[in-house]
Amino acid sequence: MKPAPFDYLRPATKVEALQLLDTHRDGDAKILAGGQSLVPMMNFRMAQPSVLIDINRLSELAFVEERTDCIAIGALTRHNDVMRHPLVRKHLSLLAMAYENVAHHTIRNRGTIGGNVAHADAASEVPVVLTALDAEFVIESKKATRNVSAEDFFLGVFTTALEADELLVEIRVARPDPRAGSAFEEVSLRKGDFAIVSVAAEVVANEGTIELARIAIGGVADRAERASTAEAILAGAPLVGKTVQDAVSAQIDAIEFLDAPGISADYRREAARALLERNIIAAAARSEGTQA
Ligand SMILES: Cc1cc2nc3c(=O)[nH]c(=O)nc-3n(C[C@H](O)[C@H](O)[C@H](O)COP(=O)(O)OP(=O)(O)OC[C@H]3O[C@@H](n4cnc5c(N)ncnc54)[C@H](O)[C@@H]3O)c2cc1C
Repeated sequence: MKPAPFDYLRPATKVEALQLLDTHRDGDAKILAGGQSLVPMMNFRMAQPSVLIDINRLSELAFVEERTDCIAIGALTRHNDVMRHPLVRKHLSLLAMAYENVAHHTIRNRGTIGGNVAHADAASEVPVVLTALDAEFVIESKKATRNVSAEDFFLGVFTTALEADELLVEIRVARPDPRAGSAFEEVSLRKGDFAIVSVAAEVVANEGTIELARIAIGGVADRAERASTAEAILAGAPLVGKTVQDAVSAQIDAIEFLDAPGISADYRREAARALLERNIIAAAARSEGTQA
């Protein structure tokens, strides 16, 4: 199928893009980034914007930078550039791990981190990591700039805190504790597919005690969710199998798993249980230096 007719605008700067968003704020304008989600939706007529604002010339939004207190990633940074960036591999290994599961090489060459999170697919891997790591989203309009936490950014399936005249410009992630270990794993039908269930875990373990656990689950609700029940049980607890099993069971009991076409609630529950256990143990072992 072909998309419905639309006007095409191609600003050269962020200021120009914000002006165009402001001008079209009452219409149904859409930003075009990598086009890897928006263009298929337009082709299927699930999205019919009357105006497309193509931000691909805004090179000022394509960067990965080390700041005093965080790693900042520009919204227009391509997936592959984020995944391979030395700062991401050094400080945000959880994000690099998750990216191994995002789509395929050619899609990652074009798709952007900003487009991925603005699209807010509940099965997407990147929001799971950004939720686990308490990322901050910098959002600009012609009139104001605001910072939104991951918890407040993702509101539901294909729904975020972004308003019609707003552009996501940057994502900030505080540098994790250098002693932290990370693990990301998912269950999907085929490699590169969206996740049926995914789990991101970052754990700081020290001489057999879990000091801190930051965990998020994807695919089981309308957005990525923090595993706060498990996190609370794990913090300060001894790093033994029974602690992890108890924390995971309590977390699983706190989630309402629903049947979906081709995937039963029972399947998703047991997949989530297995991934939570494995990832918490792997992240803790990496923190202790007993696993690569
Ligand atoms: C075959 C296939 C498999 C895929 N598999 C996966 C997968 O396994 N996991 C996964 O996570 N993703 C997957 N994707 C999606 C891919 O990650 C997309 O690149 C991503 O979801 C959208 O990024 P984009 O830059 O292409 O955004 P676009 O498609 O250009 O835009 C997506 C949405 O975000 C909005 N938007 C874009 N940038 C901004 C911005 N800076 N500010 C505000 N709004 C903005 C657009 O208006 C649009 O609504 C897959 C895609 C395909 C085609």
